[in-house]
Amino acid sequence: MADAYKIIDHTYDTVVVGAGGSGLRATMGSAAGGLRTACITKVFPTRSHTVAAQGGIAASLGNMGPDHWTWHMYDTVKGSDWLGDQDAIEYLVREAPAAVYELEHAGVPFSRTDEGKIYQRPFGGMMQNMGEGPPAQRTCAAADRTGHAMLHALYQQSLKYDADFFIEYFALDLIMEDGPDGPECRGVIAMCMEDGSIHRFRSHNVVLATGGYGRAYFSCTSAHTCTGDGGGMVLRAGLPLQDMEFVQFHPTGIYGAGVLITEGARGEGGYLTNSEGERFMERYAPSAKDLASRDVVSRSMAVEIREGRGVGKEGDHIHLHLDHIDPNILAERLPGITESGKIFAGVDLTRQPLPVVPTVHYNMGGIPTNYHGEVVTLKDGNPDHVVPGLFAIGEAACVSVHGANRLGSNSLIDLVVFGRATGLRVNEITKAGSAHKPLREDAADMALERLDHFRNAKGSSPTATIRLDMQKTMQAHCAVFRTEEIMAEGVEKMDGIYKQMQDVDVSDRSLIWNTDLIETLELDNLISQAHCTIKGAIVRKESRGAHARNDFEDRDDGEWMKHTLSWFTGWGGKGGDVNLDYRPVHDYTLTEEIDYIKPKARVY
Ligand SMILES: Cc1cc2nc3c(=O)[nH]c(=O)nc-3n(C[C@H](O)[C@H](O)[C@H](O)COP(=O)(O)OP(=O)(O)OC[C@H]3O[C@@H](n4cnc5c(N)ncnc54)[C@H](O)[C@@H]3O)c2cc1C
Repeated sequence: MADAYKIIDHTYDTVVVGAGGSGLRATMGSAAGGLRTACITKVFPTRSHTVAAQGGIAASLGNMGPDHWTWHMYDTVKGSDWLGDQDAIEYLVREAPAAVYELEHAGVPFSRTDEGKIYQRPFGGMMQNMGEGPPAQRTCAAADRTGHAMLHALYQQSLKYDADFFIEYFALDLIMEDGPDGPECRGVIAMCMEDGSIHRFRSHNVVLATGGYGRAYFSCTSAHTCTGDGGGMVLRAGLPLQDMEFVQFHPTGIYGAGVLITEGARGEGGYLTNSEGERFMERYAPSAKDLASRDVVSRSMAVEIREGRGVGKEGDHIHLHLDHIDPNILAERLPGITESGKIFAGVDLTRQPLPVVPTVHYNMGGIPTNYHGEVVTLKDGNPDHVVPGLFAIGEAACVSVHGANRLGSNSLIDLVVFGRATGLRVNEITKAGSAHKPLREDAADMALERLDHFRNAKGSSPTATIRLDMQKTMQAHCAVFRTEEIMAEGVEKMDGIYKQMQDVDVSDRSLIWNTDLIETLELDNLISQAHCTIKGAIVRKESRGAHARNDFEDRDDGEWMKHTLSWFTGWGGKGGDVNLDYRPVHDYTLTEEIDYIKPKARVY
């Protein structure tokens, strides 16, 4: 197989796949410590989805009122519905302030208070006094373009270090070998999209920073590039993904367009109404109201719509009001969404309400890791077995700090905190320039066989048709409301759609900018993860965070306070079984400075 394609070899200490916020931070950290580092990315770094983040980044700076890392920790644990690992959460919230100051020094133009401190806004689920309230102003923002500011600053900084960038290279598969203690990662195979050349990267450390897989759904806020390629590679390497049934719906995607309206809009005083003009969140979350956590607000909106109180001709959406806010404040703090309202809904936010609907926004699930970014798996009864050579960070990973539900502004901070942690870890365990273990002759074969298969696929179902079927099925059968019946139908449909992949049709056979082929490889990655999502969901017979079942309305800590692990067999429509197992949630903290936060009912 290898003979059919031209292979170019590279050797590095660390290869990072992905140049979003997490990938760039890890690239900088690895290179700064003296390791020979490469960063591979399928889009130009500053086009990664991080660029679209609006609302902000959480850290208990206390610039606008009292705050403390223990309060941030409490909120994150509660937000996770007790599925988050508390050692990792403690690491996140304690490192958060330093990470924000690091970004400030790197040049992120944060919005400022009158005294010149970093401006912080309230965000859903962020409270003072260990959840007692009032709301904490914890979310640092650069107007409503925080991700844009962050990504540009990080990219500019990363050029200062001696790292090589492989831009518009598409990573295909990991190079895995059997080590003395189970599978190990020795590198990654990628294709240069411009000329179709194949690149074999040997590396002591491979860091997957490939982002989420929001595009498994029909209506989502994430970019077309969010196809979970890292998760697909991990599944094909025979390793599991974790907690895939937890998919976050953002309450305020613009109806019809899916474009995000940041939670910062409600942080600045925006509120939701139904067809009766009622501010219904007061009924569902009497204290936090419109700033309850995302799963709670999304579910409340879905109930209003189902019970016939939605707005619009079809009664299928909800209104978001910002028309009572001083237009000068809107122009200063929310300029981007004012523009989005105009472009995508034809609405002048200063005078009219915006039509919104819960829209897929974030994947809590992903590649399981510890707080050093090291990928872990269940092996011989050890739930924390580290897979040598393999790391994952950012939305691709499941550390797990977000558990069953992520709080808004906790992802951007997760990117930089764990990106940095991974940079530190690779430097701790790797001697720069040390010799590489031998690779098998056929190390590139699996990747190339799959590439060749799809490139020459002559079936009757175009990629776009299969993708649309998958997206619509996931949207209808594995969304905000879940029951056995709805999901069982979805599982059956998804099995059929998976088989259709055997009959996929790729019309372009060339290797030069073959978008047809790349989209097919991406679909193959999406579809395996969609299967893990729906099959993990139907088995979890409880409601927790974003996974809300009408037939099992309560959280069941006795049976279900555990992480789902899902393995997937096959690719390209062959195989297709999902095998599930579980690993315990870490019921301990990192230090003795805070005790394990015990489960409670989650009310806002
Ligand atoms: C519209 C929107 C607004 C958001 N707002 C906020 C917010 O205000 N606050 C907050 O905390 N979170 C927010 N989030 C969530 C947060 O922005 C994302 O979770 C986060 O940016 C993901 O970053 P990442 O580094 O994991 O990956 P991404 O930024 O998604 O980047 C993925 C990278 O991987 C590369 N890649 C992927 N596959 C391959 C492949 N096969 N080969 C090579 N390269 C590959 C891509 O080229 C890209 O560089 C928002 C998300 C969206 C969609």
